[in-house]
Amino acid sequence: MTGRSHISARPREAIHSRGRWPLLSLPRALKAYLCGIVALDLVAIGVMATRTDLRAADLLTFSALTICGAVCIEATRRLGMPAGVSRDLLSAWWLPAALLLPPLYALLAPIPLQLLLQARVRATLLYRRVFSAAAIGLAACAASAVFHAWIGDPALLAGGGAGPIAVAIACAVLFTVLNTALIALAAHAADPDGRWAAVLWDRERLMLDAVELCLGVLVAIVCGLNLALLLLVLPPVVLLQRSLLHAQLQAAARTDPKTGLLNAAAWQREADTEIVRAQRTGETLAVVIIDIDHFKRVNDTHGHLIGDQVLVQVAATLRSQLREYDVVGRFGGEEFVVLLPRADLTEARRIAERLRTRVGRTAVAAEHAMVSVTVSAGVAIMNTHGEDLIELLAAADLALYRAKALGRDRICLPATSVPPRQRGADGAAGAIP
Ligand code: GH3
Ligand code: MG
Ligand code: MG
Repeated sequence: MTGRSHISARPREAIHSRGRWPLLSLPRALKAYLCGIVALDLVAIGVMATRTDLRAADLLTFSALTICGAVCIEATRRLGMPAGVSRDLLSAWWLPAALLLPPLYALLAPIPLQLLLQARVRATLLYRRVFSAAAIGLAACAASAVFHAWIGDPALLAGGGAGPIAVAIACAVLFTVLNTALIALAAHAADPDGRWAAVLWDRERLMLDAVELCLGVLVAIVCGLNLALLLLVLPPVVLLQRSLLHAQLQAAARTDPKTGLLNAAAWQREADTEIVRAQRTGETLAVVIIDIDHFKRVNDTHGHLIGDQVLVQVAATLRSQLREYDVVGRFGGEEFVVLLPRADLTEARRIAERLRTRVGRTAVAAEHAMVSVTVSAGVAIMNTHGEDLIELLAAADLALYRAKALGRDRICLPATSVPPRQRGADGAAGAIP
């Protein structure tokens, strides 16, 4: 399931307060919620332990599924794990445990695998691992209890009947929904102002949930047929897990972690591709450099955390106002770059003007005030102000310099009378600290 780290909604606070007991420095509501879920999990384990007869066959199935999960973790360990929200396919192993074995095993299944992740993959804050294990365990326990109550004998699943399979799918959905809800509540307690939709609704996440669910039910059926068949299931699941991780690492390498936009290197690569295409087809395009005005004052007045939120908000506004095929990135500090394919001078100015007004209308809530910022932008058009990316960036930077000199909060085109600002080797403006 997920190694979702929404609980880290306040990264800098977390870093500064990371003492021996980082849990203690969390907001009270979050602390109470995390402890409550873990306590509930422990109580459930205690209660289920007294009600469950330990059978050798169940222990064997549990051990085999846990070993498969461990092999998956070990086989992907060397690839590393992207920072922040990351996904794995471990539900493929704890869902079968929930469906085939008594609910006690569903509660226990995440514990060894979370310990292994902590010890071998990434040592994250311990309370997050403990909470993850408890949330997955409780969700799987509920799914297991419903499945056993409904079907009676879990061995029916391997019979291939439509009824048991449909119930297994319904219980797998229940597991996913409960697990997501438990994590979303933690994210909400960590950041009450955060949007629920950001935690719950994401097309990519839903697709992965569906994949995990399908895998879990399939592995459960195969496992019910014959435990030894796990040897046939394991390699494709490992391969899927590796390609999922690979895709996540690739995405992380292209993205600016603070704003989610392309980072400077990735933007430059994509912009180069667009420019080559435009040169080939003879189409025009525009490059816009956008810089937040007096951003240092925001940091000085409201602190860096609010400054960061302003950056996130500006990035989101830019993204929401642009077309799917526009290439938008964070060039560094408080500077953003946009490449507008097929945009001529009129179109580029219109879009840049819209970006400027929209950013000016948004605000971020600080302790005693709403913080809003303005932006200045420089626009350069292909074949008018430059022939390649370097020339276009230099021209747009020159235009940005003019916008700043003329009083900020405006869009400008290049004018040859003002010398370009010094550029760093990476192409970012020299004024970036
Ligand atoms: P101007 O209108 O001339 O652009 O003024 P400015 O204050 O925006 O520009 P200046 O280059 O003087 O300051 C940029 C500030 O951006 C200083 C730096 O601390 C801040 N900054 C850069 N990156 C980040 C970041 O990731 N987070 C936060 N909070 N601040 C950042
Ligand atoms: Mg600035
Ligand atoms: Mg700047």
